[in-house]
Amino acid sequence: MNDSRDLRLADVSEEEVLEHIFPLLRADHGPSAATGVLVGPGDDTAWLAAPDGRFLATTDAVVLGHDWLDAWSTGADVGHKAVMQNCADIAAMGGVTTGLLVTLAAHAGTSMAWVTDLARGIGEAAREARTSVVGGDLSGADDGTVMVSITAFGTTEGRDPVLRSGARPGDVVAVAGGLGRSGAGWALLRTGRGEIAPDLVAIHRRPAPPLSEGPGAARAGAHAMIDLSDGLVRDAGRVARASGVVIDLDPAALAPHVDALTSAVGAEEALTCVLTGGEEHSLLATFAEAPDGWHVLGTVGPVDELGAGVRVGGEPRRGGGWDHFDTSR
Ligand SMILES: [Mg+2]
Repeated sequence: MNDSRDLRLADVSEEEVLEHIFPLLRADHGPSAATGVLVGPGDDTAWLAAPDGRFLATTDAVVLGHDWLDAWSTGADVGHKAVMQNCADIAAMGGVTTGLLVTLAAHAGTSMAWVTDLARGIGEAAREARTSVVGGDLSGADDGTVMVSITAFGTTEGRDPVLRSGARPGDVVAVAGGLGRSGAGWALLRTGRGEIAPDLVAIHRRPAPPLSEGPGAARAGAHAMIDLSDGLVRDAGRVARASGVVIDLDPAALAPHVDALTSAVGAEEALTCVLTGGEEHSLLATFAEAPDGWHVLGTVGPVDELGAGVRVGGEPRRGGGWDHFDTSR
């Protein structure tokens, strides 16, 4: 294993792979009651504490060719993003991630260099999220297939979770983190213009969800919350429908987010990215009053004759277009 750069999975045993990647996944902390990991990797299963008798669980799989392209993302990017997507879901419930399970299914020709890089990205992200990999699995796959699946567990620290269904008329809707940056980075990559804004491309490759703001919002009394995985309008719509309310986004509040992207992708694309760009993993929540660190985007009102949903400047989205949205400001 000295020169792992040239090796493929077919050339090494599972034990050798694990021996190689375990050090990269190592947490800053060892197993302890304080971190909730009572028994870590290496036994038949991990053993995690659930101090309040309840825990959060979520899972997410990404597949080569569907969710990433090797031309655009390194193994480390893929691992980092997969961890952050899961941790953002835990944060969106007002929780803190307590442990991760990782499954890799990969064809025999997959290079050990890529697998090592993946493990490095997973380990880095886990440490950033103050959690650790507590177990995993390695499986073969058909030629060309590479899939990474991550399951995350979390705790709400004794609180009830913040659901999508709790928004109330009179609330404000607010965001922690950016809007549209990942979508803009993806648009640039797609059109071969990544060098225009490396910072946006970096956000697309490695989203940086404001994880601590999730439990922070819960402590501040958030009524509803979601992470922005599929775009502001679509995810706000999920909250609106689950809560039976109308969420009205204020174009003036969106403007700084649009302006921040305009030099990279132009005004029209910037607006599209802010409203519909996916994989940002910022947190969107509703509050009676937004706490520090949250940027108010609009208001929550009672359901009207058009039903529950999202409006922008009072106008509903019609079809696929934004023809009612005045970008001239
Ligand atoms: Mg989510």
